[in-house]
Amino acid sequence: MTECIFCKMAAGEIAPDKVYEDEELLAFRDINPQAPVHILVIPRRHIETVNELTESDAALGGRLLMAAKRIAADEGIDESGYRVVFNCNAGAGQSVFHLHLHLLGGRTLGWPPG
Ligand code: AMP
Repeated sequence: MTECIFCKMAAGEIAPDKVYEDEELLAFRDINPQAPVHILVIPRRHIETVNELTESDAALGGRLLMAAKRIAADEGIDESGYRVVFNCNAGAGQSVFHLHLHLLGGRTLGWPPG
């Protein structure tokens, strides 16, 4: 039995606040939102960080991004602006070691990020 919380969501053992799902991906609202819209898009398959992606995952990476684009439109933040972020490893703030894309929007986002 996995201890990975995002794997448990992907397996249906924990129910997140889901906004999208398909055979490969799951998207849900972040439990500690940093913006009015803060959604995580994850692959169902356990991949720890961006560093573990291989060339054979190139299409998966593209589908994560395309899902984020569609969700941004669904959430009505495509025109106002949004950010997509992958935190990779602890120094970048990664706290859950199951690959996830952050989709943030609904407010003005500062740059550079902290
Ligand atoms: P990161 O710090 O990049 O690894 O992002 C992990 C994100 O997962 C954080 O923004 C957390 O708030 C979020 N998170 C952790 N547990 C849950 C949960 N049970 N449901 C939704 N989001 C979560």
